[in-house]
Amino acid sequence: MPLTKELIKQALTGVAHPDGDDLVSRGCVLNIAACDQDASVRICYTQGHPDQPQPPRDTLSNLGKFAEQVIRAAAKAQDIENLGLVIDFVDHAGQVILKLKSDTKNTSDTAESNAKEQVPQNNAAAGLPGVKHIIAVGAGKGGVGKSTVAVNLAVGLARQGHSVGVLDGDIYGPSLPTMLGLETMDQAVIESTLQPFLVHGVKSITMGKLVDPEKPLIWRGPMAHGAFHQLIERTQWGELDYLIIDLPPGTGDVPLTLAQSVQLSGAVIVCTPQKVAQDDAVRAARMFESLGVERLGVVENMSYFIGDDGKEYDIFGKGGAQQMAQKLGLPFLGSIPINTALRQNMDSGNPTKNFEESTAGGPQLPSALDQLATHLVAQVTLASMSKSNQAPTLSIS
Ligand code: ADP
Repeated sequence: MPLTKELIKQALTGVAHPDGDDLVSRGCVLNIAACDQDASVRICYTQGHPDQPQPPRDTLSNLGKFAEQVIRAAAKAQDIENLGLVIDFVDHAGQVILKLKSDTKNTSDTAESNAKEQVPQNNAAAGLPGVKHIIAVGAGKGGVGKSTVAVNLAVGLARQGHSVGVLDGDIYGPSLPTMLGLETMDQAVIESTLQPFLVHGVKSITMGKLVDPEKPLIWRGPMAHGAFHQLIERTQWGELDYLIIDLPPGTGDVPLTLAQSVQLSGAVIVCTPQKVAQDDAVRAARMFESLGVERLGVVENMSYFIGDDGKEYDIFGKGGAQQMAQKLGLPFLGSIPINTALRQNMDSGNPTKNFEESTAGGPQLPSALDQLATHLVAQVTLASMSKSNQAPTLSIS
């Protein structure tokens, strides 16, 4: 007899939950997969109780080992001797908090479990379920166009056919409500899960829709960290190819903490061409390096100005950011000109207009933005090819 999901589910009804009932009837068993002699089970101990903290590791471990024994006994009753089993305990965000792996030796239903615990090494910074790449957009200082780049990258990627989300991590000065035109919309919440807005082809979420926009947000590091976490984890993102995070500007405590709190595929650094802006961008690049975050590239914003005569005017010293990127050995993703239409489109919450020649003040801006998205995809692909994707795990026997 093959191993089936039903068999495993039936076995798990025999595992009592410490708070009453069994794992299956409490809805804690989120997923069961079975193939030949291998099976995996995904369990959320606090399912249905999102405010309840996760229990100590020992509790999960004991429960997992008991679950393993009942599954093994059920498999043995079907003459399956060589069962390979993985039990993942996950939190509400779907993040694995404990993995139990066991192999073939133990086939007795009374014998000790042979499961080994594996704790994700980078537990504090895990990814998000269903989200392939999380990309932070940072800048050494405010006002260089970081949010503008984050939004236009998101819309550009969506226009190329990717499923994209954008999170306003700039919790002190959220710009997304204005730039995406969310002002008249209300934040939807279903069973304490935030529903992202879906406008301009991208999903988005911003603290600007959850707090009073008139009140300045004076949050210290830990509070900002908590707020950011709730924003990212409590949002029902669904399946995304890219989640773009607009980080707070600078290299202080808050952007540093936020950049560490989720597993990033990499970071984009936004800079204007002037020397002073470059110095700040170098600090931002070093911050990401010190955190072990892949630097996907530099964007030069407000690179040059195109006058009504169609000529390029070099106001801030075009190419400065590109040279800086070269010096640091970082990819250069492209430049965005200073463009009145861009400013107007962003102020009126119409980023899609930046991609149409007729509403973007000519062909330069749409082509520059399109190239940025293309180059970013290429860098993300290169980065994921060059690193062995899986974070290493520690085995605790
Ligand atoms: P940051 O996030 O770095 O503080 P923003 O993205 O909020 O900066 O941009 C600041 C202002 O500059 C916004 O009004 C934005 O519309 C404008 N801006 C940004 N980039 C450009 C550009 N290339 N051309 C014209 N205006 C721009």
